[in-house]
Amino acid sequence: MVFRSFMDVALREAEAAGARGEVPVGAVVVNAAGEVVAQAGNRTRELNDPTAHAEVLAIRAACAALGSERLIGHDLYVTLEPCAMCAAAIAASRVARLYYGAGDPKSGGVAQGARVFAHAQCHHAPEVYDGIDAAASEAMLKAFFAGKRGG
Ligand SMILES: [Zn+2]
Repeated sequence: MVFRSFMDVALREAEAAGARGEVPVGAVVVNAAGEVVAQAGNRTRELNDPTAHAEVLAIRAACAALGSERLIGHDLYVTLEPCAMCAAAIAASRVARLYYGAGDPKSGGVAQGARVFAHAQCHHAPEVYDGIDAAASEAMLKAFFAGKRGG
């Protein structure tokens, strides 16, 4: 089977989040057949919910659609390295593969910081592929935060 990245869908969700005034991060859950099951962008401000990260919203929506607490055989695409909270949610949901874009030195919890999947207490670690369309994600985040500083 030819690899088809769904990062473009995640980037569109990130863009939409930025347009809503949220930090531009997007996530997509894809099933084993290569179909998008759920997609989401950050909504922490809109929902007054610090846990409403794109990954958490996408995982919740995918689980609801499947009627299951687990996403066996599913892939998650996210534009930015997941934080420790999202990495724990990814482990709990049993996502098979995690594809992410830019690394996040400030809040990342996969390749740095808490390195959630590296702990013995982590019951499931997905295969991780980083740097997917990282430049596009970084440019979006940079523009967003530059705009914030500008007023
Ligand atoms: Zn997060």
